[in-house]
Amino acid sequence: MTTFADLGLSDELLKAVEDTGYTTPTPIQEQAIPHVLRGRDVLGLAQTGTGKTAGFTLPMIDILASGRAKARMPRSLILEPTRELAAQVSESFVKYGKHHKLTQALIIGGVAFGDQDKKLDRGVDVLIATPGRLLDQFERSKLMLSQVQVLVIDEADRMLDMGFVPDIERIVKLLPFTRQTLFFSATMPPEITRLADQFLHNPVRIEVSKPATAATTIEQRLTVIDAQDKREALRRLIRAEPVQNAIVFCNRKRDVDIVGKSLKKHGFDAAPIHGDLDQATRTATLDLFRAGGLQILVASDVAARGLDVPTVSHVFNFDVPIHSDDYVHRIGRTGRAGRSGISITLATPHDGKYVDAIEKLTGKPIERFKMEGLEDARREPREGDGAGDKRARDRKARERTRKFDRAPAPRAIEDGVSMEAFRPDPEAIAAAAAVVRDEPAAPAAREEKPRAARPPRAPRNRDGEPRAPKAEAAPPREEKPRAEKPRNDRPRRDDKPAAPASAEDKRRDRRERYGKDDLGPSVVGFGDHMPAFLNVVVPRIWEKPARQEDTAEMPAPETSSEAEAA
Ligand code: AMP
Repeated sequence: MTTFADLGLSDELLKAVEDTGYTTPTPIQEQAIPHVLRGRDVLGLAQTGTGKTAGFTLPMIDILASGRAKARMPRSLILEPTRELAAQVSESFVKYGKHHKLTQALIIGGVAFGDQDKKLDRGVDVLIATPGRLLDQFERSKLMLSQVQVLVIDEADRMLDMGFVPDIERIVKLLPFTRQTLFFSATMPPEITRLADQFLHNPVRIEVSKPATAATTIEQRLTVIDAQDKREALRRLIRAEPVQNAIVFCNRKRDVDIVGKSLKKHGFDAAPIHGDLDQATRTATLDLFRAGGLQILVASDVAARGLDVPTVSHVFNFDVPIHSDDYVHRIGRTGRAGRSGISITLATPHDGKYVDAIEKLTGKPIERFKMEGLEDARREPREGDGAGDKRARDRKARERTRKFDRAPAPRAIEDGVSMEAFRPDPEAIAAAAAVVRDEPAAPAAREEKPRAARPPRAPRNRDGEPRAPKAEAAPPREEKPRAEKPRNDRPRRDDKPAAPASAEDKRRDRRERYGKDDLGPSVVGFGDHMPAFLNVVVPRIWEKPARQEDTAEMPAPETSSEAEAA
């Protein structure tokens, strides 16, 4: 069996790997590391969960070990589609580079420019970035890319989905022609093949199996129920299952909020994560979940993309994902690297074709099970029931929380792969909990203006997005190429996250924050100015009122996922 020592890594690096507890390289590590160390370009077909991050991080640390970075001229660049993935890669460099003296900077949107500027000024060996913020920094003349020796493009197909390809092409043009390029993608649609051909020079192609095949350890189940019974079904399942910690996936961010609030209201330890939350809340929620201080993370696909949560016992699909690839990504959150896990999907009678597509992709039928009596629960009185009932519910909620506190660390060694065991970390929990629990999750846009200064809410369409009138044509979108419009002349306060100025900037920032399928509210053409007629709130008469039990906290009707999908 190949060991890390066989791959040609330095002793310092082997020591760092040993400290993590990993004994055997994963297939992508085994195949990629020797080639990367030899300076070859690599085309890696691999998803998250395969160990690909260490596959490029480890050899890069050795490659960059000799040499020094000059101010504003990073020596390597890693492009990631989302801020969370970028932060994860940054953590990997910290973990594996602890016996080296490499410097790194994380250049992502949604956080202050000030610290990023300082790091870039000092010079960094490793620059990890999302495309939008990287271009911002370049245009602010904070950065030159002429010394980049190693380029990593990670999750290329995801970048394509999120509309980042033009930005990436632009970035690559700014890099030296002679460089080493490592290109990773889970799938190879034609557009990605075109990019790979364009960016890579005589690459070694490495393909490792999808986590879906690794997921023989994942027990997959599915139940078909009425859309209006989903929340009750979810609660029952969480109570009935031995849930150590779980991710509940919803197709829409709006439902992420609804389900998160509903679970909390019923006494579960749950918090939402999606693109509308400000970056601090997203980061803290994730940290809390990772540290074992939060039992249930309710997430959208984009927010959870590639999340590396070492031990998730359950994945609940509150909705059947519309793209079958997303199903594979979702269930890949559990059963990672040889561990066992359970995935339970709540389907409605209308989801048949999506379920078929998933089963076709994974090549495996999902086991069906029945849930009885859900409609009875709909008839149960809830509002106004006696104080005794409420006390009983509160007691049950407390018991559930205590059960979670006592839950043992799961066994994490299977198939000869040693993994970090799940150990709640009190310090990390306290720090993250302060943000998640004390500060209500506010949409990012609100952060930038004091509440009083915000214009009244505009009428919304049925997706909850601001409605732009047809008659009042919006001014045409910014069409000038970015290069003709240098943005570094704009005044910017460095101690604040800068608001993107051009239409393209705004679109890009939204993409980075929400992803293509998860686009946040968009107002085209009005900017901060809101014509008075738009401020008239139109009642949403076409939607039936939310069920009483959840109206107190619910911002939207309960069958919204169905209504929206329709
Ligand atoms: P990635 O695909 O890079 O997101 O990695 C998935 C998970 O596998 C992460 O939790 C890594 O820490 C873990 N991992 C990476 N390499 C190994 C290894 N050689 N043995 C066991 N676990 C690993």
